[in-house]
Amino acid sequence: MNFDITKKQEDFISKVDSVCKSLRSVEEECYIEDRLNEKLIPEFSKIGMLGCPISKKYGGLGFDILTYCKSLERIGEEGNSMRTFFSVHTSIGQMVLQGWANEDQKKRYLPETTSGKSIMAFALTEPEAGSDPSSLNSQYEDKGEYYLLTGKKHWIGNGTIADIVTTYAKDKTTGKISAFIVDMNSSGIRKKEMKNKMGLLTIKNAEIYFEECGVPKQNLLGQLGQGLNIAYSALIDGRLSVAAGCIGVMNDCLNETLNHAKLRRQHGSLLAKKQLIQQHISRIIIGKESVKWLTYKAACARQKLHDYVEEFKLEQEGWQKKLNRNNTAYSKLRKEADMLTTIAKFHATNIAFDCANRSVQVFGSFGYQKTARVAKHFLDSRATMIYEGANEVLELKIASEALGDAYKAY
Ligand SMILES: Cc1cc2nc3c(=O)[nH]c(=O)nc-3n(C[C@H](O)[C@H](O)[C@H](O)COP(=O)(O)OP(=O)(O)OC[C@H]3O[C@@H](n4cnc5c(N)ncnc54)[C@H](O)[C@@H]3O)c2cc1C
Repeated sequence: MNFDITKKQEDFISKVDSVCKSLRSVEEECYIEDRLNEKLIPEFSKIGMLGCPISKKYGGLGFDILTYCKSLERIGEEGNSMRTFFSVHTSIGQMVLQGWANEDQKKRYLPETTSGKSIMAFALTEPEAGSDPSSLNSQYEDKGEYYLLTGKKHWIGNGTIADIVTTYAKDKTTGKISAFIVDMNSSGIRKKEMKNKMGLLTIKNAEIYFEECGVPKQNLLGQLGQGLNIAYSALIDGRLSVAAGCIGVMNDCLNETLNHAKLRRQHGSLLAKKQLIQQHISRIIIGKESVKWLTYKAACARQKLHDYVEEFKLEQEGWQKKLNRNNTAYSKLRKEADMLTTIAKFHATNIAFDCANRSVQVFGSFGYQKTARVAKHFLDSRATMIYEGANEVLELKIASEALGDAYKAY
């Protein structure tokens, strides 16, 4: 398996690097002040990052998934907060439309999101439905020309600024879950910022209330009843993006820790000379390397799935109905991408949190202020073990895959 990238891909990543460097001080300032980094969208839009893996046909850059992951890896160095913006806007936002929307929907929504004119969010979680989305309470009713949507979502990333949201609700009569594309300026929508977060302070989460919100029939995403299938496929991309960002977090933790250990002197010598400090450093390096290759492998599996689906769509009329478990090739590729991204996310988030914890330890009291980059990584990494599938549930999912459906424990 080859994870090398071309000069063109490398050039793009160096553009990402430049924007990251230019935004570093403002991101740090916003983090301390617990406010949205308003420079992020305009600055990353200039290099096309807001449509990095989206087809050129819809205004994106059309980059492959590995290049997108390597971009997220670089962004992850600035923190999970900045990276989460892209996971939401692109991975569980635009990529859901790219994968499941019909041509009219893609033409209507994708170009404005790749340009950064419109921002996306993914609204699945509800107060009573977290790890188990099948228990969601939001409902829709067929009103002839439109669907009437009622319900409450919470923790929605980009929720305070999003213009377009994909959301999920149950048919009031049949209970089947469907997916919808919702314009956030529609009537019957209220949103409220969720305050007092532990970390991820430059991206905002919101509660979103659908209060008899009319959604045009043409905004049904995929087929009626296909909602959970779409949501679970979105989470494949979400998990991959989290894992990629974690590599960046560990890169930054390593650099910060090396610098500090080589400057700080206690008991007559530099921390870098102490064996127990060296153990922390080597654990960060080992963790980072293991996560890196797992994530790149998962990115390649996701790419194979993407290529298959795009080819299938070109060849098959009514592809949405046909792309299901009965299609053996699709089923195999999806399962592989699902498993590898799940394993990568589980491992990456546990290891990144451990690395950030070790870095804070090496910094001692200097790492215990939010102004320290390692402190920010510690606080932000905690969330990654909860969102895009809490790690316990992912562990069960990995075991069930090996044991078979009869042993499913979640
Ligand atoms: C910072 C942040 C950003 C988020 N962004 C979004 C977003 O953009 N869009 C969105 O839709 N949602 C978002 N979420 C919600 C997130 O996806 C959920 O928090 C997550 O799915 C877990 O659900 P829950 O919080 O309700 O926890 P619960 O489902 O109540 O789980 C609590 C604990 O129990 C464990 N658990 C649950 N079921 C089992 C089981 N069967 N066996 C063993 N253990 C189990 C879990 O692993 C977890 O440790 C976000 C959450 C956070 C914290």
